[in-house]
Amino acid sequence: MAAAKRSPTAADAAAARPTIEAGQAVAQALLELGSQLRPSSDVEFFLRQALSLASQYLEADHGVVLTVQPGDDKLLLRSSLDAQHKLPEGGRPSRFGPGEGLAGWLIANQQPVIIDHLVQDARWVRYEDADQEHKSAIGAPLTVNQDTLGAMLFFSSTTSAFKPASLPVVQAAANQAAAALYHAELYRLIRDQASQQGGLLREQRVEASKSNAILESVAEGVLAADQRHRVTLLNAAAEQILDLRRNELLGRPISEIIGIYGQAGERWLRAVEAWSLPASADEHEANLEAQLVLEDGRIVALTVAPVLLDRDFLGTVTTFRDITQQVEVDRLKSEFVATVSHELRTPMTSIKGYVEMLLMQAVGPVNDEQRRFLQTIKTNIDRLGGLVNDLLDISRIESGRVELAIEPVNTVELLGEVREAFLRRARLESKPMNVELVAGSQVPPVRADRDRLRQVLNNLVENSFNYTPANGSIRLSAWAVEARVMIEISDNGIGIAPAEQSRIFERFYRGEQALNLSVGGTGLGLSIVEQLVDMHRGTIELESKGVPGQGTIFRVSLPAAPTQGKSAR
Ligand code: ADP
Repeated sequence: MAAAKRSPTAADAAAARPTIEAGQAVAQALLELGSQLRPSSDVEFFLRQALSLASQYLEADHGVVLTVQPGDDKLLLRSSLDAQHKLPEGGRPSRFGPGEGLAGWLIANQQPVIIDHLVQDARWVRYEDADQEHKSAIGAPLTVNQDTLGAMLFFSSTTSAFKPASLPVVQAAANQAAAALYHAELYRLIRDQASQQGGLLREQRVEASKSNAILESVAEGVLAADQRHRVTLLNAAAEQILDLRRNELLGRPISEIIGIYGQAGERWLRAVEAWSLPASADEHEANLEAQLVLEDGRIVALTVAPVLLDRDFLGTVTTFRDITQQVEVDRLKSEFVATVSHELRTPMTSIKGYVEMLLMQAVGPVNDEQRRFLQTIKTNIDRLGGLVNDLLDISRIESGRVELAIEPVNTVELLGEVREAFLRRARLESKPMNVELVAGSQVPPVRADRDRLRQVLNNLVENSFNYTPANGSIRLSAWAVEARVMIEISDNGIGIAPAEQSRIFERFYRGEQALNLSVGGTGLGLSIVEQLVDMHRGTIELESKGVPGQGTIFRVSLPAAPTQGKSAR
């Protein structure tokens, strides 16, 4: 190099021109450097190596790498050959914005440049406090896949220090630097994503093991199956309730388990299979509730629900609860009530008989006051008889002791009989009531137990009779709806307030108005009706605005009996 302080001349620069061999050696060194590049390489080291290899060849006084930082308003001084001002790890912001200065120009124009006289060049921004006086420069953009990541620049303290022949070396060094930066960025991205995913995976594992712990500790049995009905999960409670071993079941089709539970099992399987068919969302929503009776006599209540993601069926979850004890307690309660009611009947029959005999003056004359008292006793004994009968009925139904004698029953005929009975009662009690019967032309017979169905209709019409003032109207109608028969009993009585509607099927529940009217009743009628309708695989619903005069409609839907040719049973 020329001695210090002497103004360099063009001849000096020419004398210092790098030889072709030197260029090849640097290119070789750069290639070797490139071959050492790994995603995890120390990018600072690579940048400095590329800078210093090229700078030696160029005999430059200084070299820098500036990079574009997305989102930052200044270019980053990423690497520098200035030994006096060491850069912090990762570089430091420069004074140039992305479009400013020589680096800005290189990035914007994406082409290398040689500037022989920096002072005369508009792209050169000179700072007064700069400790080095640069006279000429050579530079190239750092480009990868058409993205410009920054610029590499070399400076000399002499004018025209760089020749076009050196441009390939500068560009090669710039390419190595760009590759190093690109790899580093890629590596950072992959590492970030991997650690993010690792974090997510850990969170998922934590959540899964929490859910697992919860599942294992709940008293309810849980069994999950996938879209193809294969068992994917069975908790400890399910193992215990169903007396099945999880290892033997996991991965096996759910039908193998369900198959052993008879009719309830079949309904369970049908529900599971129905959910896997494409269906409307509404159809998907319904859960199935059923009871299984296990071989050892235990009773298990099960609820099956589909697992849906939007409208996609992912599988089913079935929960089990051992309700044997509950059923047993209920049975004992019903049995107790049945025994007590039965025992009450005998003395009541006797009281009733003696009162009737007294009223008939069979044992001597009775005066008016005595007759009134005896009449009151008789009325109350009748009410008590009604209550005892209802109680007996309820307990028999609940303990499963009522067996239905199913046959095809003509509802219109039955409604006609009930109508006659109430017209008679209206006359007898001097409570005029208009009772009409409206029936569709072809109402098929229903599958029913004639006496029990009569009890249901009787009960509903009796309520209409009781809760409709004299001279009111009761309408009985029946019509066919597909494979079912609808029976409607409507009146224009006092109605049922909406707030009470959910409670009137409860045992012993009596509406406030009914109590005010002091109509005799037990509050058991509708509860019996509901259970009998259910036993007939029917449904019952009511409609009322709760406005006196607008009355109430009770609607019972029952399955029609199979048409002739098939068995009626
Ligand atoms: P009960 O008639 O013996 O009170 P139910 O179980 O038959 O008992 O009916 C329960 C309650 O439902 C009645 O107390 C009454 O408040 C109401 N209810 C039933 N049917 C009617 C009706 N047709 N009109 C008005 N209220 C009714």
